[in-house]
Amino acid sequence: MKRRVSIFGATGSIGESTLALLRLKPEVYEVVALTGGQNIDALAKAAREFHAEIAVTAYEDRLDDLKTALADSGIEAAAGAEAIDEAACRPADWIMSAIVGAAGLPPGLKALEQGTTLALANKESLVTAGPLLLDTARAHNATILPVDSEHSAIFQALNGEKMDAVERVIITASGGAFRDWPLKDIANATPEQAASHPNWDMGKRITIDSASMFNKALEVIETREFFGVEPDQIEVLIHPESLIHALVGFRDKGLLAHVGPHDMRHAIGFALGYPVRPDLPLERLDLAKIGQLTFKAPDLDRYPALTIARTVMEIRGLAGAAFNGAKEAALDGFLDGRIGFTDMAPIVTGVIEIMSREGLGNAAITLESVREADQMARRRAFESMAAQ
Ligand code: NAD
Ligand code: MG
Repeated sequence: MKRRVSIFGATGSIGESTLALLRLKPEVYEVVALTGGQNIDALAKAAREFHAEIAVTAYEDRLDDLKTALADSGIEAAAGAEAIDEAACRPADWIMSAIVGAAGLPPGLKALEQGTTLALANKESLVTAGPLLLDTARAHNATILPVDSEHSAIFQALNGEKMDAVERVIITASGGAFRDWPLKDIANATPEQAASHPNWDMGKRITIDSASMFNKALEVIETREFFGVEPDQIEVLIHPESLIHALVGFRDKGLLAHVGPHDMRHAIGFALGYPVRPDLPLERLDLAKIGQLTFKAPDLDRYPALTIARTVMEIRGLAGAAFNGAKEAALDGFLDGRIGFTDMAPIVTGVIEIMSREGLGNAAITLESVREADQMARRRAFESMAAQ
């Protein structure tokens, strides 16, 4: 019997890498649902190639375009957030969660409710609603497998280990586009400059979040939520070569590092094959040729997002949802030229401060409360940008 697979965010960077892996073994997989956004051509093309049951665009006003692009294919077309949720309820053995941003949470929850295996690239789900996601998985006997490279690395290093033997977890960061820029120049950086990553080829938003380290801040919180470690057990290490993705430090002071090519098909392939390691057509690292791997501590003046992550973990509750909402709004502001690159962190910090005074830390985490905190944070961030 074929394995039934769905991909949420099929037209993005992670989605396309996932499709590339399915393409290697078409006899093994049967594609159920593929979802995308504005790029209807790419969505329809993938749906036709993989004979998907249904293709869904996030945008209701693009439904006619999608229907036209799928004419005579026998593939169902649908549009809108509700249709994405419905597609997540279709029985599947393995579901990739690769929508970018807070929009990835609702279909992820729906997928878990049907007891499936959820390959989680959408880190925002864990940041905004970690306890809700994990409780839902537990209640429905579903499995969450990490896809973020650092978290896949931690997961792999923990294989066969006991959590109480773990002393610390170290996630690495390339340092992003501005790691070698003089601090004073970063304020004037453009979105184009921020969107060029030294090592990884990723979507635009996550690449800019790598330059600001908002991405690493999300990943620190993701580590805490997924692996249940305490904030002071999580460290960030700058590693410009991006070949060690994470290390786990044990009480006996041994460290297990995961080394792999900086190609997301490794982490996606691991989650797709789990528990069996697949044979992947990726670069075989020649460590003699690479010669050396280097490390340094992150400079918190250069990367204020890392301090924000600590604050969010201290407040807990809906602080993750507020953080992510404010960060997404600030990124929108930077992308459309309303604020500069270094304005993003103070805006996000301000939103979290105000909202924490309003009781953010004590609120229960439900889909509704997460949505409200997200929207409130976006509104507050826009007000703060308008006042600049
Ligand atoms: P991307 O921008 O390349 O693709 C995003 C996908 O989400 C697209 O299919 C897009 O159509 C869809 N989408 C966008 N807005 C949507 C909305 N409102 N509703 C429904 N669908 C929507 O992003 P990406 O780089 O592939 O990243 C996807 C997720 O994976 C993010 O959460 C990111 O943090 C995470 N991630 C990415 C990488 C990477 O290498 N790209 C690595 C680790 C984790
Ligand atoms: Mg990552």
